[in-house]
Amino acid sequence: MTTRFNTQSEQETEAVAATVFQNTLTRGAGTILLCGDLGAGKTAFVRGLVTAAGGDPQDVSSPTFVLMQEYAGDLMVYHVDLYRLRPEEVLDFEPQIHDLIDRGGIVAIEWADRLPTPYDGAIQVNIEDQGDDDRLLTVECVTTSTTSRA
Ligand code: ADP
Ligand code: MG
Repeated sequence: MTTRFNTQSEQETEAVAATVFQNTLTRGAGTILLCGDLGAGKTAFVRGLVTAAGGDPQDVSSPTFVLMQEYAGDLMVYHVDLYRLRPEEVLDFEPQIHDLIDRGGIVAIEWADRLPTPYDGAIQVNIEDQGDDDRLLTVECVTTSTTSRA
């Protein structure tokens, strides 16, 4: 199922993130794959997730030189940014992403289109800059297999 949201401010994008947190992250945990150009609002979305997870949104910055940041709250949020990684470095880093996912919090990955394959069961969020402060957010659940897991 695909859901679309139009936002006109950073705060509205943060509010959409809170909605996604409430509606789609059943049992709290989950992986969010964030795609969109520089300045689209991926980090803003993560800020909304952190607020919804009971953490401090002021802690959230673009982890430009840091690959991963974690924010404590009622639920842990792990914030990964693949922007600076070359394709082979993404491959090397992937096991660490899987370790984070196994911890059972929220894993939000910026530039997730750089992953070789999207993660089954993750929520994919595409943010498109439509000019000025207008953003179109498309939210869908990733399904990579047609067979159900045993
Ligand atoms: P990204 O992480 O995708 O590079 P950021 O979240 O760091 O983007 O920055 C988004 C920028 O766009 C911020 O400066 C923010 O204030 C601005 N902005 C304007 N309108 C919106 C909107 N509707 N949603 C999110 N950010 C917006
Ligand atoms: Mg960012």
